[in-house]
Amino acid sequence: MDMYKSLLEGNKRWVKEKLKEDSQFFERLAKGQSPQVLWIGCSDSRVPANEITNTQPGDIFVHRNIANMVVHSDMNMLSVLDYAVNVLKVKHVIVCGHYGCGGVKAAMGHGQYGLVDNWLRHIKDVYRLHTEELDAIEDETERFNRFVELNVIEQVFDLTKTSIIQNAWANRNEPKVHAWVYNLKTGIIKDLNESFDNQGKLPPIFRMEPSVVV
Ligand SMILES: [Zn+2]
Repeated sequence: MDMYKSLLEGNKRWVKEKLKEDSQFFERLAKGQSPQVLWIGCSDSRVPANEITNTQPGDIFVHRNIANMVVHSDMNMLSVLDYAVNVLKVKHVIVCGHYGCGGVKAAMGHGQYGLVDNWLRHIKDVYRLHTEELDAIEDETERFNRFVELNVIEQVFDLTKTSIIQNAWANRNEPKVHAWVYNLKTGIIKDLNESFDNQGKLPPIFRMEPSVVV
């Protein structure tokens, strides 16, 4: 069958399965959402937030882009973050990268891929920040894996630099931000244990005073 048609067939089978498990499933979800988690992940087709965390529609608010980046001038990311933090009031924001990430791999090299090179340049900045550590790793796969991890950690730092996160911390001590990496070969997610819910680890230059609500 044509792949395009099989998607619609798959949808019909999925609806049937869901209704068999819970006849109110769609009625309940249609009333609204109150996810506790914002997921910032890679667009890679092999890393779908719900499936790999065994969660359901309604559980996770999702933003995905190439190499799970938090770019401070990206209105799309900022809008998702602001809505998730200030309207949905999520308790956790997770940046989830993955080993074998094509975006990170491309940023390690010198090839040209078109428009995306401008996006990948943000990842090269992460390499520049950690050149000493990364250049010291001789094995290329190991260096690539560590670069993936450092990129996720930097994106978490970039989240904490935003007024959105800092104001939420000042007002309600949430959300907690986390750095995760997914392993394509095992399906296991590794928590990099770089979680924050305050400005403590942020270099002073990035710390903002709480905004005054008039
Ligand atoms: Zn990726």
